Amino acid sequence: MRKPIFIVQKHQASHLHYDFRLEIGGLLKSWAIPKGPSLDPAVKRLAIEVEDHALAYADFEGVIEEGGYGAGPVLVWDRGWFEPLPGHTGALSAAEMLQDGVLDVRLHGRRLNGGFSLVRLKGPPGQWLLIKPHDDAARPGSDITVEQQNSVLTGRSIEELAEEAVAGTLATYRCQR
Ligand code: MN
Repeated sequence: MRKPIFIVQKHQASHLHYDFRLEIGGLLKSWAIPKGPSLDPAVKRLAIEVEDHALAYADFEGVIEEGGYGAGPVLVWDRGWFEPLPGHTGALSAAEMLQDGVLDVRLHGRRLNGGFSLVRLKGPPGQWLLIKPHDDAARPGSDITVEQQNSVLTGRSIEELAEEAVAGTLATYRCQR
């Protein structure tokens, strides 16, 4: 069976954010993380639940046109596959953990690896924290979004995508799976 994918897209809309997406139930469950993911276990990042995306959107890299929702450049910042880790609540599948509000996964990406926990906050609906547990892939004190700023697919930066769009030379990238 094909392994479920994860994708992180860096998206310069009205505010820069990172869209963290997990393939669950045939869709990409999605969270917008304003500051991006971290490999530092001391750093907890706010992750705001956003609308599901179709799987076909997973490797989209290009520029969303003015007037479209989220207009601005999008690059694929990381990609790979993930496995759900049996949850604290006894839930076994990613869908069950999502429901329970504690989603533990192991990521196998180029930049993000090892365990990650998404924990739903009590209070305002749709707000979660993304937390890196202490494990072999943890890098205390690091800031991966500073170390790695460009596309993992094409090496392009957000600025380069925007310039290509203005120049009319933009190559929109969609990976074949
Ligand atoms: Mn977005």
